[in-house]
Amino acid sequence: MSAGQPRIIAGLAAFLAVSVVLCLAQTQIVAPKNKYTPADDVKLGQQAARQVEQQLPIMNDPQVNDYLNRIGQRLVENIPPEFQHPEFHYTFTGVNVREINAFALPGVPMFINRGMIEKAHNEGEVAGVMSHELSHVALRHGTAQQTKATPYEVGQTAGKIIGSILGGGLGAVISTGSQVGFGTAFLHYSREYEKQADLLGTHIMASAGYDPHDMANVFRTIQQQGGSGAPQWLSDHPDPGNRVEYIDQEAQMLAVAPSPPDNGGFQTVRAYLARLAPAPSTEEATKSRNAGRTPTRGTPGTPDSRPNPANVPLPDSRLTTYDEGSLFRVSVPSNWRELPGTNSVTFAPDGAYGTIRGSSVFTHGMEIGVSRNESHDLKTATDELIQAIRQSNQRLSAPNGYERAPVGGRDGLHAVLTNVSDVTGASEVIEVYTAQLSDGSMFYALAVAPRDLYGAYSRVFTNVVGSIQFAR
Ligand SMILES: [Zn+2]
Repeated sequence: MSAGQPRIIAGLAAFLAVSVVLCLAQTQIVAPKNKYTPADDVKLGQQAARQVEQQLPIMNDPQVNDYLNRIGQRLVENIPPEFQHPEFHYTFTGVNVREINAFALPGVPMFINRGMIEKAHNEGEVAGVMSHELSHVALRHGTAQQTKATPYEVGQTAGKIIGSILGGGLGAVISTGSQVGFGTAFLHYSREYEKQADLLGTHIMASAGYDPHDMANVFRTIQQQGGSGAPQWLSDHPDPGNRVEYIDQEAQMLAVAPSPPDNGGFQTVRAYLARLAPAPSTEEATKSRNAGRTPTRGTPGTPDSRPNPANVPLPDSRLTTYDEGSLFRVSVPSNWRELPGTNSVTFAPDGAYGTIRGSSVFTHGMEIGVSRNESHDLKTATDELIQAIRQSNQRLSAPNGYERAPVGGRDGLHAVLTNVSDVTGASEVIEVYTAQLSDGSMFYALAVAPRDLYGAYSRVFTNVVGSIQFAR
């Protein structure tokens, strides 16, 4: 045995000891003091979520929500046991607005903006934001903040939290047109809580098999975005200082679990979103929903806001052109509002739109959108579209065949149908235009006018359809 060997072994032992210390240097997270029960968190979250769901365009789209749930459940399974609460049931739901944002409420759906998926560079970045939000919930930061701040009872806390999410925020956006950030009460955390959410988030990512550096990357992405979305996210989640640096540092300490094989879900959902009509901004979405919600008759406070067709102004002869993102341009009468939906946009004058039994309705104007066309010819796809419309408008007539009518230079079909309005009980005319887009999806325009005004409207519909220009 040479004299050198023990030294080598001693050196190796020292190296091992250092590695162990490095592994242990992963920051220990301790949930802050909290005088509420996890059940209280759920109660508060549910109250706030109901209002959020009324005010924001929630995506009831399995293609998007299933994808978000796959990421979300993978993260949830990797929340450390000490921060798991059996009362909390996590689900993940898309919101059809374009800013990068996401927000989480205890025990209820986490809401993830469509813009979050569209602007992320990869799934890890989406997971980075989601794990940050999940960490706020798992560490129960909302009620912990209340514990620290005030002697309020839970009931009052709920009022306060909801008030600042929807009363203050939404009230402000409606009256001033400024940006709104939902979930502000849950999101305006102290810098200490922000740092905790960042660090626990990296731990969850690493155990779930995501590279925790992607959380630092998404903060870089958000900072580079500029524009309306970025400052909102950053003001919801203030930078505790050196955020990107300490996240990267923490990420280096973590052993990343093997990730399941990538099934291309991120690319698939992005391609799918690119085929939808572009998402509105949060401000546009909340404004139009609120506009549609303003009771024009009936009892204020009822969830439905029926249209008021007796007071609808005739179409303005001046036109306004709208650029619908990467899809098409269209010119409509200047006194029609743009009302963005999930896969479509509706243009209608005041009084002509609203909600009945939770569904959007309109009595005058046009809905324009894109739907997927699973490899059929245009006629079959148009038949299916009309069939789908008839399911919610059971008194809609069936088409007597179609006439060929080009739309935006593409081959198109046109049909004129009759219906009995759910709103007025009177007869109305519905025109359907469809056209095949180059990516195989189908463009459609549905035009609606009361039968007695159809003479004035049919020319307007022809002009609007004639103005359509496709970008691809
Ligand atoms: Zn945060």
